[in-house]
Amino acid sequence: MNQTISRRAFLKGGLAAAAGVAASGVPGVKTAMGSDGSGHLATLIDIRKCIGCEACVEACNDANLHKYPEPRKPFPKMYPSRVKVSDWSEKRNEIERLTPYNWLFIQHATVAVDGKEIELTIPRRCMHCVNPPCVKLCPWGAGKQMKNGISKIDADICLGGSKCKDVCPWDIPQRQTGVGLYLKLMPSLAGNGVMFKCDRCYDRLARGETPACIETCPEQVQSIGPREEILAKAHALARETNGYIYGETENGGTNTIYVSPVPFEELNKAIAKGDGKPHLEPVHDAMAEANNLTAAMLIAPVAGVAAAAFKFMKNMSKQD
Ligand code: SF4
Ligand code: SF4
Ligand code: SF4
Repeated sequence: MNQTISRRAFLKGGLAAAAGVAASGVPGVKTAMGSDGSGHLATLIDIRKCIGCEACVEACNDANLHKYPEPRKPFPKMYPSRVKVSDWSEKRNEIERLTPYNWLFIQHATVAVDGKEIELTIPRRCMHCVNPPCVKLCPWGAGKQMKNGISKIDADICLGGSKCKDVCPWDIPQRQTGVGLYLKLMPSLAGNGVMFKCDRCYDRLARGETPACIETCPEQVQSIGPREEILAKAHALARETNGYIYGETENGGTNTIYVSPVPFEELNKAIAKGDGKPHLEPVHDAMAEANNLTAAMLIAPVAGVAAAAFKFMKNMSKQD
C-alpha cells in the first residue's frame, strides 16, 4: 500500500490529536512548569582536565552512527520555499562544529591563567536543560524529555521545522534535509527534514552503560550522576581550584555543569562562535517567559499533529 499521507487525512488526524491534547490539560505545553531537576542525571565537565584529543568526538560518532540520517535525493521542494536546504550528508567528517552527523565537538580558547597564556579545550553538545524549551515548545510533539532528564528528538515525528533550534538558547539542534516524515506528506504540507542533537546515549544508559564520550575520555573529564550530587561535586571542585561554574542556573538550570579555571565571560570571548558553535554567555530562563498563556495558545492548535500523522501511518502500515 502507498504510505503517502494526503493533506486531508493528515489534517483530520492532527486536529483530532490536538483536541485530545487540549482535553488533557494545558494545551500545547506538555508540562506547564518545568521540574526542579530531581531524578535527573547530570554531567560535570572539568575543563581543566580536557586535553582536546577528540577521542570523545570519535566515540560519539561510532556509538551513534546507526542514528544518523540517510537522506533521499534529489530533495523535494522545500516548504515553505524560503527555507534553505540543509545537507550535511556529504560533509559527515566535519567535526569542528555541531552537525546532524556530529553531536559533540571541541571548542578552543586561548586565555590567561595565573599570568600564563594557555589553551583550554571545551567539549560542547546539548546542555540537557532541566526544563528544555526544545521539548516543551516543539509544535509537533517530537521533542521528548525522559524521567532521567535526557532530552531527545523523535526522528520518526520531527518535521525539521527548526523550532527547537530557534528556542534553544545555544541553537544546538541541527537539521538534515531529505529525511523523515515530511517526505511522506504529499502534496507538501510542512517540514523539510529532521533535527538532530546529542541524546546523551539514552540507549546505552538504558543498558546500564555509560555515554560513549564519558567512557572513552582518557582524562576522565566528565562524570555523570544525580544532579544534586554533580552540583555538590562542581561546587567542591570550584572551591578547590578557584574555579567558575556554568550550567547551574543558565536557562533555569541544565544537566550539564562546566567548571572552568577562568570566568566564563573570558572563555566566551575567546571561543569561535556561530552556527553550530554555541556561546558560553549567561542565559536567562527561556521557559519562564514561554510559560504563559499566550505561548500556550499560540502552540495549541498544532500540538500533536505530527504524532497523529505518525500514528496514522503506522495504522496504514498494518493494513498493508
Ligand atoms: S576525550 Fe576527554 S580529554 Fe579528549 S577531548 Fe574529549 S573530553 Fe577532552
Ligand atoms: S541545550 Fe538546547 S537542545 Fe539541549 S535541552 Fe536545552 S534547549 Fe534543548
Ligand atoms: S552523551 Fe552520547 S550522544 Fe551525547 S555527546 Fe556523549 S557520546 Fe555523543
